Amino acid sequence: MKINKPNYNWGYALTPRSLTTHLIIHHSAGSGSAEAIHNYHLSLGWAGIAYHYYVRRDGTIFAGRPENMRGGHTTNWNWCSLGVCFEGNFENEQMSAQQLAAGSELIADIKRRYPTIVIGKHSEYGQTACPGKNFPFAEMISGCDIEPEKDVEDKPEPDDWAKNACEQAVATGLFLGDGKGNYNWKNAVTRQELAVVLARVRAIENAELRIEN
Ligand SMILES: [Zn+2]
Repeated sequence: MKINKPNYNWGYALTPRSLTTHLIIHHSAGSGSAEAIHNYHLSLGWAGIAYHYYVRRDGTIFAGRPENMRGGHTTNWNWCSLGVCFEGNFENEQMSAQQLAAGSELIADIKRRYPTIVIGKHSEYGQTACPGKNFPFAEMISGCDIEPEKDVEDKPEPDDWAKNACEQAVATGLFLGDGKGNYNWKNAVTRQELAVVLARVRAIENAELRIEN
């Protein structure tokens, strides 16, 4: 897999990102080069191209922001996610075989490096049609041999005494759930999960959430 790496001039210094729990898929809703997207995002006052990868219709792959830097692609999720964008508007077009194959290969590679990463469409994480109703999400994931996410069987609601705290935890992104609005409120927490939540608290205290979006 060849990844083209344009030389971007960033509008301002990128912010490092220490957590990578999610991979969020987008479409560009238009056409153009990685550099054109970079320039467009600069014109919005952003640091530059907001995605970590950009896959063109012909199947060529371009790097965007470095993987260890915060993206600017999904409000409230940039501090813990990678963003991959596909050229096109999949509300009204179908993906080419080359683009689907390149996307599958790229996502499989990311999944190998971040084995527990949760892969989802932008529309699962915000009020948007992105990446479009025709986006071949299932094919792209099945093409890279990733097990489909198991359904959460037990979805208990929090008890009344904990309800406010749980709602706050969701609103501030301390618990991300399964990306579809389900949280296992009564499950036990492991030490590694607690460490991740504490890291999120520190990130919020450092006001990283307010830098972009
Ligand atoms: Zn999007």
